[in-house]
Amino acid sequence: MQHVVVVGASLAGLRACETLRMDGYDGPLTLVGAEAEIPYDRPPLSKKVLAGEWEAERIRLRKADDFASLALDLRLGVRATALHTDRRSIALADGTELVYDGLIIATGASPRHLPSQPALDGVVTLRTLQESLTLHALIADGTARVVVIGAGFIGLEVAATARQLGCAVTVLEGLPAPLVRGLGAQMGTAVAAVHGRNGVQLRCGVRVDGLEGEGRVSGVRLEGGEVVPADVVVVGIGVAPNTAWLEGSGLQLGDGIVCDASLNVGVPGVYAAGDIVRWPNAAFPGDAPMRVEHWTNAAEQGAAAASNLLATSKGDEPTPFQSVPFFWSDQFDSRIQFIGRAHGDDEVHVFTGSTDGNFAALYGHGGKLRGVLGVSMPRMVMPFRALLAEHASWDDALAKAGALTAG
Ligand SMILES: Cc1cc2nc3c(=O)[nH]c(=O)nc-3n(C[C@H](O)[C@H](O)[C@H](O)COP(=O)(O)OP(=O)(O)OC[C@H]3O[C@@H](n4cnc5c(N)ncnc54)[C@H](O)[C@@H]3O)c2cc1C
Repeated sequence: MQHVVVVGASLAGLRACETLRMDGYDGPLTLVGAEAEIPYDRPPLSKKVLAGEWEAERIRLRKADDFASLALDLRLGVRATALHTDRRSIALADGTELVYDGLIIATGASPRHLPSQPALDGVVTLRTLQESLTLHALIADGTARVVVIGAGFIGLEVAATARQLGCAVTVLEGLPAPLVRGLGAQMGTAVAAVHGRNGVQLRCGVRVDGLEGEGRVSGVRLEGGEVVPADVVVVGIGVAPNTAWLEGSGLQLGDGIVCDASLNVGVPGVYAAGDIVRWPNAAFPGDAPMRVEHWTNAAEQGAAAASNLLATSKGDEPTPFQSVPFFWSDQFDSRIQFIGRAHGDDEVHVFTGSTDGNFAALYGHGGKLRGVLGVSMPRMVMPFRALLAEHASWDDALAKAGALTAG
């Protein structure tokens, strides 16, 4: 290959560049990123950075002077605007065109907004370092009334951090329980109980009708007319993959880029990685192609996409990317970990601890293990990774749980 381009200068894109170099590609390598920032880690944005405990420099994925060893043509602060697969080129917002032989797309995802969300001061989303610093400034003195819309992981992490800074915090969720998408209703309720114990008002089953205020937000209006007063509103209603720049490229788009098992996008020499990918994960054979929004997946897919690009450029077969999704979340003193996939119809079995505090639980369906949840039980989750990868039976999972708790 004469020139590899990676679009998206965050976790998946950087891991792709590092892997290309580690695996021996020493030709020209361009990394394009819409943000003007040296790539950084996002998980602390709702935790230590938001709390003001960590400086921004601490979350860089590589120190500025460490980039030299990757010998990148680093194009930061410039957005890719179009992909032309016929002439193997990418158009950038500054008018330049990059011609590639190999391409990795890692443009991630961006927060969703409320329908017809007015532009009011004090209303924020949280995805970037700048947004985290802006939100920190709004809540740092602990006097703001903070309303978080959406009881997903990021919304609840923000709620916990704002509460720990002393703010009065209300979380509004349309579904009947928090964390339903990640953990299911029963365990979502159990896990989020830590918020009630710490003075966060968690209101589920309420529908937001709109925002109140002139110039600056003053409240969140619910269906039925009630207004929840707010000085700061955090909209945490999920993310949408950044595929707009690929419209018209011929790639198959559908809540992400539809890829094959090896993360190829359907065009030779073009792979994708991270939050933007939808792919058939052989670790979950009965499931539809999935998109995963977790740190570990983005890091692993960045490396896998790069390895497959190099392999195919040499005429070798690509390797299917198969993985058991894993994520963690920190809320107050709880470290939540989940490995596998939760479905609404799963049977859940708490095998150690109590749902009033710290515990671990198995998720299963049809006689098979599908996931494992731990709340501040670090040694009870990862040991199930191998069982999940080999589609272990529910009975084998119960036996493993028994052995872990006996030991
Ligand atoms: C606040 C927060 C907390 C999180 N906490 C956790 C956690 O505790 N545990 C966990 O497992 N995961 C967590 N995550 C999720 C994790 O950070 C993501 O899964 C990961 O960042 C995905 O990496 P990515 O490289 O695929 O995409 P992204 O990190 O979204 O990066 C994509 C990059 O591409 C750039 N880009 C977009 N469009 C273009 C374009 N057209 N041209 C050029 N560049 C473009 C974007 O600006 C961005 O820099 C958290 C995420 C957030 C936001």
